[in-house]
Amino acid sequence: MSELQFRDPKLARSMAATLDRLVRETGRKIAVMHVCGSHEQAIAKYGLRSLFPKSLEVIMGPGCPVCVTDVPEVDESVLIAAQGARIATFGDMLKVPGSVKSLADAQASGAKIDIVYSPQQAVEIARSTKEEVVLFATGFETTAVATAAVILDNPPPNFSVLSVHKYIPPVMEIIAEMPESRIEGFLAAGHAATITGSAVFEPFVERHKIPVVIAGFEPNDIMAGLVELVELIRAKTPHVVNMFPRCVTLEGNLAAQKQLWRVFRPMGGRWRGIAHVPNGNLRLRDEFAHLDARKRFPIDLTSLWDYAPPALAGQCICGDIMAGIRNPNDCRLFNRECVPENPVGACMVSNEGTCKIWHLYGGVPDLEASA
Ligand code: SF4
Repeated sequence: MSELQFRDPKLARSMAATLDRLVRETGRKIAVMHVCGSHEQAIAKYGLRSLFPKSLEVIMGPGCPVCVTDVPEVDESVLIAAQGARIATFGDMLKVPGSVKSLADAQASGAKIDIVYSPQQAVEIARSTKEEVVLFATGFETTAVATAAVILDNPPPNFSVLSVHKYIPPVMEIIAEMPESRIEGFLAAGHAATITGSAVFEPFVERHKIPVVIAGFEPNDIMAGLVELVELIRAKTPHVVNMFPRCVTLEGNLAAQKQLWRVFRPMGGRWRGIAHVPNGNLRLRDEFAHLDARKRFPIDLTSLWDYAPPALAGQCICGDIMAGIRNPNDCRLFNRECVPENPVGACMVSNEGTCKIWHLYGGVPDLEASA
């Protein structure tokens, strides 16, 4: 398929017609979920929701790693920064609220924060200074692989990692088991599956009888993925289908998986606003304890309890949005008190957050009404 066909409007409309027919054949409304900010960006940027049948709801789940970084995890980074260490992290993390402070607030009070684009860059900063440099390592398995690589590459002694990496497959279990969940199928992210392989979703499908389709990120990748997903739902044939074979294989990138699981162990932990997710967090194995910032710095979260939380924080419904129960239009702060320049919740901070994406592109455009 040529690059143009990935964005060919005629092809997209033809797939939209197929989607419409398939949904009609089920005779009911269908809700499916994707778990990736890049999918939501493409859906919103290209106005794909205007092509979806009205009876098909395509919901963004907990696919924004910044958004699911929990409040105490941000607090940990703020407390380490307060001890004089340099925090190296991705730009999106700066404004994510902790219980009383974000890293941006800490920076305004004199903390040293470096914005990096890769874990390797954090190591380079550590090599250029005698100061302690802590990589505040966020992201899903795709990013965790890059963190694992620098840990295995003999980083300098003044480098350590505060890992808040998350692992996607376990949170899909949580969503599927929520009593209020309406999700009948998942569109899985092609880049994560490039690492894990398509086979990682087989046990989930076996357990929950919910189909999973792996899709790429061009508009017609997403349309084709949805056609396949709705067809599996209509036919009541829950399978894993790889619609991104130009990058994803059954077994995935075995070398990357080996590095990932050598460095990290999965453990349970909270995802912001969602729930405790068994095996959803990635922590350094004991072998790498000397590089674990949690072991290197004293972290007393109770020291923050004396401060009052930000006034509007209690009204944020990010958790419900990421669980697919509500959308940004249901939040009374959306595009009013909460905007990217002054975010109340994490979903308005990151470029992969649903609220920020809907703020930038609009969420559910009705092109027929505006024609
Ligand atoms: Fe939270 Fe802001 Fe989104 Fe509302 S608009 S859910 S306050 S991030």
